[in-house]
Amino acid sequence: TVRTRIAPSPTGDPHVGTAYIALFNLCFARQHGGQFILRIEDTDRERSTPESEQMILDSMRWLGLEWDEGPDVGGPHGPYRQSERGDIYGEYARQLIEAGHAFKCFRTSEELDELREARKAAGMHLALKPADLALSAEEQTRREKEAWPYVVRMKVPATGRCVIDDMLRGAIEVDWAQVDAQILLKSDGMPTYHLANVVDDHLMGITHVLRGEEWINSAPKHQLLYEYLGWEMPQLCHMPLLRNPDKSKLSKRKNPTSINYYRRMGYLPQAVINYLGRMGWSMPDEREKFSLDEMMSHFDVQRVSLGGPVFDLEKLTWLNGVYIREDLDDKAFLKALREWAFNEEYVSRILPQVRPRVETLSQVVPLAGHFFSGLPAIDEESFDEVKLSREDLLRLLQFLVWRFEGVPAWRKETLLEEVKTLSGHFDLKMKAFLAPVFIAITGSSSSTSVMDAMAILGSDMTRARLRHAIE
Ligand code: ATP
Ligand code: GLU
Repeated sequence: TVRTRIAPSPTGDPHVGTAYIALFNLCFARQHGGQFILRIEDTDRERSTPESEQMILDSMRWLGLEWDEGPDVGGPHGPYRQSERGDIYGEYARQLIEAGHAFKCFRTSEELDELREARKAAGMHLALKPADLALSAEEQTRREKEAWPYVVRMKVPATGRCVIDDMLRGAIEVDWAQVDAQILLKSDGMPTYHLANVVDDHLMGITHVLRGEEWINSAPKHQLLYEYLGWEMPQLCHMPLLRNPDKSKLSKRKNPTSINYYRRMGYLPQAVINYLGRMGWSMPDEREKFSLDEMMSHFDVQRVSLGGPVFDLEKLTWLNGVYIREDLDDKAFLKALREWAFNEEYVSRILPQVRPRVETLSQVVPLAGHFFSGLPAIDEESFDEVKLSREDLLRLLQFLVWRFEGVPAWRKETLLEEVKTLSGHFDLKMKAFLAPVFIAITGSSSSTSVMDAMAILGSDMTRARLRHAIE
């Protein structure tokens, strides 16, 4: 039976790209009466967080993308979280070494830098091959005896071509010269993406891998690992990446990429799914509006077109409006509003913000409006009261956006740290520093606490408002 998977790394906000790839894997599996699996690839222990994993699961579920096996629902091939799969990967790395397909590499990072420099100077490919990394036999033995830290790398051919068969692209040829002796096991014994991904796809019985085209370069290494291990490789299908309207890769620097943002903005899950389904794909009858069920029953992966699909906010917004007008009767509309923000969970986070500041209930609405709106209507004049030059103001907001991009766990305390550090750089008191931020976030110069507002609004909505103030 057909088995597909989505394998997100829980290292940040739940990405629309993850939902897009998940959607196509789900449709492919369902169309073949197969199964769809969710696996968490959290081998990068420093960048992975439980919050991020939870947000990924929540947002996939919000979109209606249900998986048959996964870390929360279990299944016969678990655990579905790589950090819980113990020694499996180390065991395969050992087997690969024994069979002569991998080797322990004791090179220090200084040596690696030198090797790369030398190759650069000689105008050669930067890929380091096993021969480049080899030490003399005595040196190898010495370092091993003295227990130097090492990584395990795979052997790769020095010359020739590798041919990858892609469901959409046909044969993709890659020169082996460009492929490096990939690290499989890091010096702390943790596997890299490549080893863990191949081992788990095999052990979990994955038959088809639909993933972003950014992984094409990894495919030769994966194919070789399957060969070394004597396993059949799943069929590969590299999907076109989502693009910004300027055709560059969709990225959070230019566009909100977190599903949390779309949810907070009040897009309907069925509209987002419909829109993602139109990214490079169309229904056989070309209709623009279709449900997840309809997509699943008419799915044909060969209808994916490779030209970079543009994720266009205006079109998504238009489609969302169509759903609100055509699909929601009053009862459903009310339900959607409740699920969106007029619910106990969300409103109770806002109450502490407004209680000290109101005398009548009707004052709550103007005061808390920014918790329920999208991008505030502001322009240059909105910042007139701020005692900063326009230039400084723009720099301040831009630097804050950049700093916020790197915040791993979106909490008030963390944000406060960022704001403190940056206000120090600008040599401004917190209050002066926050004045323009306040206006960008709340749309006015008197409202609830801006730090709390940012914490409640979330990363993408906060950054979108800051960016909006600069544009
Ligand atoms: P950004 O440029 O916005 O920081 P990123 O590439 O750093 O994005 P990651 O956090 O690395 O984002 O990616 C999260 C997931 O989203 C990955 O599985 C990745 O394949 C997918 N993804 C990222 N960008 C795109 C895109 N443009 N189209 C499709 N999928 C994407
Ligand atoms: N963990 C990878 C990611 O975050 C999975 C890539 C793949 O599908 O092989 O996208």
